[in-house]
Amino acid sequence: PNSTSGDCEPGSAATPPHIVLFPSAGMGHLVPFTRLAVALSAGHACDVSLMTALPTVSSAESRHVAALHAAYPAVRRLDLRLAAFDAEASAEFPGADPFYARYESLRRAAPVLLGPLLAGAGEPAAALVADIALASVAIPVARELDIPCHVFFNASATMLSFKAYFPTYLDANGGAAGTIGDVDVPGVCRVPRSSVPQALHNPDDIFTRQFVANGRALAAADGILVNAFEAMEPEAVAALRSGAVVAGLPPVFSVGPLMPVKLPETGDAAEEQGNCNDYRAWLDAQPARSVVYVSFGSRKALARDQIEELAAGLEACGHRFLWVVKGAVVDRDDAGELGDMLGEGFLRRVEERGLVTKSWVEQDEVLGHLAVALFVSHCGWNSVTEAAARGVPVLAWPRFADQRVNARVVARAGLGVWTERWSWEGEDAVVRAEEIAERVAAAMGDGTVAEKAAGVRDAAARAVADGGTSHQCLAEFVRRCRGRN
Ligand code: UDP
Ligand code: UDP
Repeated sequence: PNSTSGDCEPGSAATPPHIVLFPSAGMGHLVPFTRLAVALSAGHACDVSLMTALPTVSSAESRHVAALHAAYPAVRRLDLRLAAFDAEASAEFPGADPFYARYESLRRAAPVLLGPLLAGAGEPAAALVADIALASVAIPVARELDIPCHVFFNASATMLSFKAYFPTYLDANGGAAGTIGDVDVPGVCRVPRSSVPQALHNPDDIFTRQFVANGRALAAADGILVNAFEAMEPEAVAALRSGAVVAGLPPVFSVGPLMPVKLPETGDAAEEQGNCNDYRAWLDAQPARSVVYVSFGSRKALARDQIEELAAGLEACGHRFLWVVKGAVVDRDDAGELGDMLGEGFLRRVEERGLVTKSWVEQDEVLGHLAVALFVSHCGWNSVTEAAARGVPVLAWPRFADQRVNARVVARAGLGVWTERWSWEGEDAVVRAEEIAERVAAAMGDGTVAEKAAGVRDAAARAVADGGTSHQCLAEFVRRCRGRN
């Protein structure tokens, strides 16, 4: 396909297409957009603009955006100033998750701010790529401006199929989101009631309203990019493309796993992190494949009693561990001391073989470190793709939103193991230390799971290599954008 792929080879006479990326909020959404920006700009010679909504919700996001533009000056920055819309959304949904409240302000701002921003973005846009959380508002604006609009979905292809099908499910069940049962996604799988994202059981929840509106809007997009690869989720990708899930979807480009981008830490970040970057030195001092890495992602904190059980479980499992603890949803609010949260006694007892930190760690670097043998993960999709690319087996402990659907993908693909009855946010159940210790020890001793995870890594590497399925999909997307110049 080399001659027809339309890849913008450096030196090609064609004008590079100007692609404008429109992420929503939270590191879980910003990080994959950064990877897409770099893949398109550095990898496929496109002219890329990245929109940034200001102020960002978390400090991690503002540091990340600054580092991206410093390292990749070719990626243009488009700022979206949101203060008025933030005030309106938070007044209407008091107490809403700050990241979902931000999706809402972006959704309200898009019809007002997007047009002028695109008009002032220099080169006319050949494509707008909007985060799934913004799909239903971005598509009509783009259409009005006669710019093709693609949706970027940064979760599993299985979750994409669930999302695309969910409005059909609601319509067939009288439209009442209050009575969600098991959802049979045609051609893909049955998502049991217990794996449906919590919020969707409440039709009035801010997340549900957005989720359904965005699901319905998918058919109106010009294409869907998903950070997944065919070999890991063959049924879901095939069913999305064949029309089995819902008829009338646009082309689905499976472009994952998008590769991590190494960004230099800005002066600010280094300062804010203080001396906490010693996780690198600590990892270097550990034997090969001896460490359990534990993280529940960037945007949720475990309940205090669950944090205590996890601490006791890690202590009892007998293995070395690196644990990134989060005590609050937004990092700026996470002021408590580790000792207060976990007890000085615990920190002293595990000093020899455990490192506990509240700071941001470079997770891809951690997963790529020889010392790391197992990832206890909430299965946020970025974490799953990073584990897949590095071949680190996952002990799945999904907590929220799409994470159980993702955990099923992990287990089926052989990337790891999932104890399905482990607690889920909103349930009272606390998983006890003994059980955590037992599962961690079992997974650490499981040679088969390690071997299968290495197989997933090899398949991921093939997908993104020149000529691989994901590489071809991204090239095809770029070719279509070039057709617009
Ligand atoms: N991450 C990181 N260091 C941390 C915490 C998170 O690098 O200390 C990164 C992680 O590698 C991933 C993203 O933040 O790329 C989190 O996204 P994910 O989808 O895994 O979970 P979410 O935070 O959205 O729940
Ligand atoms: N999501 C979605 N539609 C929306 C908002 C979010 O499909 O309108 C997806 C999102 O991409 C993710 C899941 O729902 O797959 C959970 O959303 P969240 O914002 O919590 O994603 P995370 O922060 O875990 O990446």
